[in-house]
Amino acid sequence: MILFSLRHRTLNLLCLLGMFMSFSAGIVNYLLGLGTLAVILNVGCGVVTMVLYYLSLVHRQYELPALVCTVMLSFVFFPAMWLINAGTNGSIPYYFIINAGIISLLLTGKKRTAIFSLFLAVVAILIAVENYRPQLVMGYSSAQIRYLDLSFGFIVCLLVNAFLFAVLMDSYLHEKKITEHYNKTLAEKNREIEAKNKILENRNAELKKAIEKAENLSRLLYKEKEKLYEASITDHLTNVYNKMFITKRLKEEFELTRNTQGGKLTVALIDIDNFKNINDLYGHVYGDYVIKRIAETIKKNLRQQDIVGRFGGDEFLIVLPNTGWEEGCNVIERIRKVTWELEWKDGLKVSISGGVAELKNEQLSYLLKEVDKLLYKAKNKGKNRIEIELA
Ligand code: GH3
Ligand code: MG
Repeated sequence: MILFSLRHRTLNLLCLLGMFMSFSAGIVNYLLGLGTLAVILNVGCGVVTMVLYYLSLVHRQYELPALVCTVMLSFVFFPAMWLINAGTNGSIPYYFIINAGIISLLLTGKKRTAIFSLFLAVVAILIAVENYRPQLVMGYSSAQIRYLDLSFGFIVCLLVNAFLFAVLMDSYLHEKKITEHYNKTLAEKNREIEAKNKILENRNAELKKAIEKAENLSRLLYKEKEKLYEASITDHLTNVYNKMFITKRLKEEFELTRNTQGGKLTVALIDIDNFKNINDLYGHVYGDYVIKRIAETIKKNLRQQDIVGRFGGDEFLIVLPNTGWEEGCNVIERIRKVTWELEWKDGLKVSISGGVAELKNEQLSYLLKEVDKLLYKAKNKGKNRIEIELA
């Protein structure tokens, strides 16, 4: 159920009071013999307020009943009562005071200002009428009747005033209580929301940490993957590429050269001379050291684009992209010389032999066979030399 607003409740109450006042005043007027006009006016006003009360209470209308109520009281009922009920000598001035309160309570804004101003004007006119044309204002038939009417009017107005203020004050306190209760509930809800927000913030912080952790793990995983990939393509003893990867790179460079007009590719196969003897004389550990140092020497003396990989036990395959046999031979020859100049224990001398060939119009396997043959030739020719296949 929708409750009435405070103003609407006041209207309901005023209509109820109006009904009571009008009918009771009608009876009092009748009993006091104040004339049929006063009785008719009071009863008529009682009927109108009854209709207004019905509209306001049952049909929940406000604006129209409020306007009709104030207009009827200000400009019909009270002015007429003033004239037939002794003007300033009667009880109507008390009701004028009540009416001023009714206008202020029921109406708002421009409507209130307009009705109130007009009402003031009517009051002024009535006073003026009484002053200049006293014969237009009907008096009481006796002093006792005047006394009774004044007493009744005064008490009724007193009660209405007190009742109205009491209702307004009670309503105000009731609304205040509701507002306070509402504010309290709101504060509780706010506290709950704040607590939930805090939990949410904590969860967010946890989530952020978890995301950070996951990102770190992912980075770690990526690094591990890279390391694993590096390990999978590297020869663990020498740190140069392993056979699988240097073969793959050779194939790639072979394809690239084939597909590039005027492309050049030179390949070299290098083998340490008499390596078995080194192993036999100084042991495998020293043999390992020799292989490793020679691999480092090869790597150091290659150009940036050149690639080297361990092809067998003491054998290295070198791929020289964009390089012709002449230039390739210079690179490998320099490596041979530098290797020969290395110093080893007990004045040992270590040499390498190699075969160098440039890619012509042959298959890759043929080129490999070619450098192998050239290496064999270098070994047969006394080692510590590089053999080239001349174009
Ligand atoms: P050549 O001059 O004709 O090349 O004679 P060589 O003695 O070097 O003979 P070859 O190249 O055929 O022999 C290679 C030897 O290298 C055979 C093997 O015992 C040894 N070897 C292969 N891998 C390793 C390794 O990882 N470490 C060590 N210490 N020795 C190895
Ligand atoms: Mg060898």
